[in-house]
Amino acid sequence: MNKLVVFCEHHNQNLKRSSIELLQFGKSKNFHVIGIVLGSEGQKPAEQATANGASEVLFFNDAKLNGYNPELYLAALEAGIKQSDARHVLAPASSIGKDVFPRLAARMDSSLASDCVSLNIEDGAFVAKKPMYAGKCFAQVNLKDSPVQIVLMRANQLPVAAAGTANAGAIKTLPLPEVSLKTILMEVVKGASEKLDLTEANVIVSGGRGLKEAGNFKMLEEMANVLGATVGASRAVVDSGWVSHSMQVGQTGKTVAPTLYIAVGISGAIQHLAGMTGSKVIVAINNDPNAPIFQKATYGIVGDLFEVVPKLTEEFKKLLNK
Ligand SMILES: Cc1cc2nc3c(=O)[nH]c(=O)nc-3n(C[C@H](O)[C@H](O)[C@H](O)COP(=O)(O)OP(=O)(O)OC[C@H]3O[C@@H](n4cnc5c(N)ncnc54)[C@H](O)[C@@H]3O)c2cc1C
Repeated sequence: MNKLVVFCEHHNQNLKRSSIELLQFGKSKNFHVIGIVLGSEGQKPAEQATANGASEVLFFNDAKLNGYNPELYLAALEAGIKQSDARHVLAPASSIGKDVFPRLAARMDSSLASDCVSLNIEDGAFVAKKPMYAGKCFAQVNLKDSPVQIVLMRANQLPVAAAGTANAGAIKTLPLPEVSLKTILMEVVKGASEKLDLTEANVIVSGGRGLKEAGNFKMLEEMANVLGATVGASRAVVDSGWVSHSMQVGQTGKTVAPTLYIAVGISGAIQHLAGMTGSKVIVAINNDPNAPIFQKATYGIVGDLFEVVPKLTEEFKKLLNK
């Protein structure tokens, strides 16, 4: 059975959906799946990995891995992949994934495809699809000639089924390799929101310059609270200082792929579309019927957002009994 390593990212002691997608993908393709879990906050994420398809978990249980330090992550991941002797490696195309895996690929002389939106196996090699030129076209990438193949997948691209039973016996605890550090993590400044990160969110309500001023984002937060959604934004409002850059969706912000993306007062510039056209259902609210966002929208509401958003929020409250 071919081996496949999955980097298991977790948050608040829970495996992220993006990693669960990859574990279950590996299992569905009949790989012997090996999860790598980093950090010392308990072995719940490692157990979740076994419940989602990992036959083995390599658990680098060290407090130094609780915050992201690229040098330490690199050392642990390299040790784990070498020990597993796997040819195939999958990781989420998250901020950490996109930072650490290109370094790892260079170090291990392996091929890497980043930001992929679909994945398959042909003749034992990864075949992945990835957007290029801000989503104007897609490239099909075949990693067949590389001894180690690494694919970084965007979240919400692969199906997830219910988890099975955890197997704590499949978890192997390993020490962090010795590293002489050039970088020390001093502090992690958390974002204001405790909501799910945009890249993981299933529902996103995003606001643009049509909201007129920062205070009006409250309307979107209210709708998001009813829907259990995360609030995003266009670059225009981030540049205006209304909201933080961590909320920006688009070419120079985050790439998202929720089930539902509600764009409020956003025109739909190509750079914004680059970050959100992977959404399954797009609802656009805009008072300009010619706004480009309507060309990508599944449903469009032409109207004044200041009238439409409160009415929709009321309807959602009734529908969801909130
Ligand atoms: C190199 C580069 C990178 C970029 N990266 C990004 C990026 O990552 N993300 C991003 O978003 N942008 C990015 N941009 C900027 C992008 O080109 C646009 O300027 C930006 O997306 C516009 O934001 P907006 O839609 O909020 O504002 P606008 O384009 O000003 O649109 C506001 C919309 O609100 C509508 N509106 C106004 N009033 C109302 C109302 N009362 N009710 C309903 N609708 C109303 C208007 O009809 C209009 O369509 C980038 C640009 C460059 C050059």
